[in-house]
Amino acid sequence: MDTNYLPLWKTLESPLVALDESHVELFSVLALFLLTLVALNVRRRRQGIRHLVQGISILVFFYIVYSCLGVFGMIRNTLHGITLIGTVFTESFFWMSLPVVVLSFSLASGPFFCGWICPTGTLQEIMTIARENLARLLSRVRVRPGPVARNILLLLFFSGFLLLVFWLGSTRQFYVEDSSLYWGASLFLLVFMVLSGVVRDEAIRGLRAASFWIIFISALMRTTIVSPVHFAFADVRDPASALTTLVLMVASLFLARAWCRYICPWGYLMGVVHRRSRLRVQADGECRDCGACARVCRVGAIQEGRVRLDQCQFCMACVDRCPQGRLKVVDTWQPTSGSPGAGS
Ligand code: SF4
Ligand code: SF4
Repeated sequence: MDTNYLPLWKTLESPLVALDESHVELFSVLALFLLTLVALNVRRRRQGIRHLVQGISILVFFYIVYSCLGVFGMIRNTLHGITLIGTVFTESFFWMSLPVVVLSFSLASGPFFCGWICPTGTLQEIMTIARENLARLLSRVRVRPGPVARNILLLLFFSGFLLLVFWLGSTRQFYVEDSSLYWGASLFLLVFMVLSGVVRDEAIRGLRAASFWIIFISALMRTTIVSPVHFAFADVRDPASALTTLVLMVASLFLARAWCRYICPWGYLMGVVHRRSRLRVQADGECRDCGACARVCRVGAIQEGRVRLDQCQFCMACVDRCPQGRLKVVDTWQPTSGSPGAGS
């Protein structure tokens, strides 16, 4: 008999025992989700409330919560927790607590995580807002970097970063855990290709699925690839994670939420969940083609007046901006709310 395994009743008890270890994380993330639910019902100044929740979330996870809320780590931690269920190692729920809460709450309410809570997403949004303000400023002083100047700048960043990755590898300062740098290098390449017109934005959105399965398989093989933003949660020295975070922030200066659009594995999972979640943003009624919703959507999830559920981050900016009130949050569990398949 394998002594690592517990009797059935102990198996059921062990995740609850382990809950003790993660109460700060659980309560923090639950409180943030509840706050987002309140914000759902407050239409006035909702985007201000959203930015406040994002700010609180960054502070909570950087200074109080020590579990990884990184976009690779949550996938790895879930799989690690599953393998511990029923064994004498009672920390299974500790590893699974945050991802399980995020996934179940997203299904039972809406996929709030990306637009309201994710620290990686918030850092990109800060840069995107900075970019928008910078563009406004440049238009006032009539200095606009043309597409050629922008592409040269991006190419310089990209080549410099690739050189750094090669140098880290050749000097043996680069380990498997540091592989997130490859995601950073790929992101720069993708952004460069989109901005220079080599590929269409739409054509490479599917890469998030590949990113998810690479992280999933590497986690099954017990290979640790640390997430961007991981350096902020852990006490360990983690320069690769810090560098990847810097890369995705710089990439967002060129293309809003670039990491979320093309490469985020957790974002892919959130898109899958969104197709089955209770609440979703849906277009309904007459459109006057003013384009206000598409302009305000930072992930380009509105196409031809319809909301793409696999890309939508549930930020509700389009709902707040549409002058016709055509974009609504609908409850797909209520038969009167409209058909769940109306988004694409
Ligand atoms: S797509 Fe990824 S990085 Fe972006 S907000 Fe969602 S989980 Fe965070
Ligand atoms: S479609 Fe609307 S709710 Fe979804 S990400 Fe875009 S602006 Fe936010």
